[in-house]
Parts: sequence; C-alpha cells; structure tokens
Amino acid sequence: MLSQPQTFRPYDGSAAWHPFTQMQEFLETPPIVIKRGEGCWLEDQGGKRYLDGTASIWTNTLGHAHPELDHALREQLDAIAHSTYLGVTHEAGARLEQTLARISPANLTRVFFSDNGSTAVEVALKLSFQYWQLVGQPQRTRVLAMEEAYHGDTFGTMSVGGSHLFHERFHHWFFPVDRFPRPAEDGLDMDSVLEHLRATLDRTAGQTAALLLEPWIQGAAGMALQPKAFVQEIEKICRKYNIHLILDEVFTGFGRAGPMLVCQDMNVEPDFLCLAKGMTAGYIPMAATLASEEIFDAFLGEYLEYKHFFHGHTFAGNPLAAAVAHRNIQILESLIPSEDHQKRLQYFGDKIENTFSEHPGVSAIRQRGFTCALDLNTEASRAGHQVALHARNHGLLLRPIANTLLLVPPLIISTEEIDYLCENTANAISQTLSNSTL
Ligand code: PMP
Repeated sequence: MLSQPQTFRPYDGSAAWHPFTQMQEFLETPPIVIKRGEGCWLEDQGGKRYLDGTASIWTNTLGHAHPELDHALREQLDAIAHSTYLGVTHEAGARLEQTLARISPANLTRVFFSDNGSTAVEVALKLSFQYWQLVGQPQRTRVLAMEEAYHGDTFGTMSVGGSHLFHERFHHWFFPVDRFPRPAEDGLDMDSVLEHLRATLDRTAGQTAALLLEPWIQGAAGMALQPKAFVQEIEKICRKYNIHLILDEVFTGFGRAGPMLVCQDMNVEPDFLCLAKGMTAGYIPMAATLASEEIFDAFLGEYLEYKHFFHGHTFAGNPLAAAVAHRNIQILESLIPSEDHQKRLQYFGDKIENTFSEHPGVSAIRQRGFTCALDLNTEASRAGHQVALHARNHGLLLRPIANTLLLVPPLIISTEEIDYLCENTANAISQTLSNSTL
C-alpha cells in the first residue's frame, strides 16, 4: 500500500546538523528557513527578505533565480540530469571544458572535473605528486604553502591549510608542509618573504613537488590581502626552482576579486588552476582543476602501465552544473569588462571606505573586488556573531569569521543595495558594540 503523502512539518531542527555550526547555539536561536531567492535577496518562510551579504558563501555571481541561468538549467534537464563522466563524455561537459580552457592562461589546456573547492585542490596536489613519480623524480614529495592558507576541509587540503581555528584538532593526521609567510598588503616586506622562500628552496627544491597559493586574497583568513604583483614573483620562483605552481582561485575566480581570473589578469601561467564556488554562479556544486599539456602527456601510456590518474568523483562533470557554469561564464565575460560593472565595483569600494573608515566599531578594513573584511574594534569573543544576529533584524545575512565581518555580495549588486548592505552593517555593529553585556 502506498504511504499517505506527508504534509510539510514546520522546521523543528530535530534531524539537522549544519556545517561550521555550533548546533547547541543554532538550536537555541530561531532559524531562518529560506524559501526562495531573487537577485541579491533571500526570502524566508514568513516572507521576510534578507540581502544575501555572503553571496551564499561566496558562490553567487549573477543573483538568485537569474532567468538565463534558470533557462540553461531547465534546457539541460530536458536532455539529461546526470550521466557518468568515467570514460564517457557529454555535450555540456565538453563545452564547459573548452570554455574554461579558453578563459584560462594559454598553457592550461586540460580540465579535470570534481565537486567542490576542496576536491579541486586535492586533485591538483595528487596530479603534481603523481607527475613527479611518472617523470622519474619520486623524491619530490614536499609542498610549500602560505601561512593561514585555507584550501578546504579534506585531509589533504587541511594539511596544506594553515588555519589553526578550523583544523588544528586534526593535525596528527596531516602530511608535513613547508610554510612561507604572507607579505603585507603594502608589499614593504615582500623582498624578505621572497628571500625566505628562496632560502627554503635552496635546501629543498629537489624534494619539492609544488607551491600552493591563493592569489591576491586569502578569503578564510579574513580577506588577508597580498600585493597584486606577489603572484608574479611567486611564479618566477617556481620557474627558477622547477617546481609546480598551484593557484587556488576557488574564492577569487569568476569576478570575485575583480577580473574573471587573477592569473589571467596578471599574466601568470600556473601548472594547475583550481576553480569552484562562482564557477556555477552558486547554483550547483562543481569544481575544475586545469593542468598543462605537459602534465597531461606524462599520464599517457598503455593501460597496463597504470600511469593514468586513479581519482574520480561520482558526479564529476555533472551536466546540469556544467550547463549552468557555461552560461554563467558567457554572461560574466560581457558583464565584468562593462562600464556599469566597473562603476559599481568602484562604488562598492568608495561606500565601504566612507561608511567604515571613521566607524568607531571598526579597527581595520580590507577590500578588493566584491569582497570586504571589517575587523571589529572589540575583544569580546562573540561580537561578530552578535553583529550577524542584529543584521538579520535589519534584513541582512552576514557570516563572520570570529570578530571579522565579511561582506561578499553577489556581483550584480546595485548601488542602492550596496548602500543597504553598508548602512545596515554599520547599524548592526553600532548596536552590538553599544551593548554593555559584551
Ligand atoms: N579554497 C579556497 C580558497 C576556499 O575559499 C575554499 C572554501 N571557502 C575552498 C578552497 C574549499 O572549497 P569547498 O568548501 O567548496 O570545499
């Protein structure tokens, strides 16, 4: 007998366990139950609207329910939702491969799909390690990564990450990584950082496989900014010492930091490029790791040589995700260079400066592209969280990291919405810091 259709039970949290969330706190607070989205706005079950100040954790590029993205998705759905990519191909995947290769630096000709930012980086690391084995240099096992790096939450990416708060608990299971410092945003200490790297590589280059970098901005480190030219200096060092350069543009890519891709803008040719988040406009999980033809060639051989890459995720190359990513990139290619977009970028930077530079609750501002971090001027341990709770009442969703507020709106945010974002954030900060219980 068929079971009776269940009526929707109001959300009670009894089965929930959310990512990066203290569930005790979560279950004590009335949750926002998102029902729909449009443009930069999310709407809850009660009809209250919130500006999506995190771009749904740094993924959303063109806004929610974008008609052309929805159309691309529906059109693909009419053909097929999913078929494997293991030894089979399909139009949506092949088209996206070509598009990604076209917008990336010229040396990157091969595209390997996976599901998320962590797997994109994991794939790059494994490809690098295997490449060196295949070309007769198996002793190259070391990796260089920057302090406070964040590349994901799998064991490989936690190992290369440098986030004490997120990952220290698991350090027993990490592989060793050589760390190098981040240069200050003004670049005054860049020479000493590069000197440090050269000194390390003078000792270790022959055993080093790759250097990994989030170019320009370390998002999860609180939008820690590097001088723009740092990535070019890093490329020169990788070439000099003959080690792979892996760029993690999971966060910075697809217009988030300003240009479509930082590496393309800076004329840097990494050996591997990791993409996710904004690639699918924030619609469906998908990631890509791009590699050069030289790397690809090393993996070719007869089957029984077992040179091929033993790595694959079930939903790799998912056609729905690929279709929406392709349309997203097409739209971004005309949007990003447009005058309107560049004006709104400028407006975002100016508005942040004007709203927060004199704000007594803000001790530091870091802004580049459509990203901004505001350090709160307080020692209170949960102040960032309190600001986010106040912001909700003002119709704004924010996600802080400790006492740093991150403003990361969809790229299509209008000037009026930028005003709304900044003014309501400023009010939420003032409310929180005037509360004597902190
Ligand atoms: N790399 C960077 C630079 C990131 O910012 C993130 C996620 N914030 C990741 C990798 C991991 O991505 P995901 O959460 O999709 O695994």
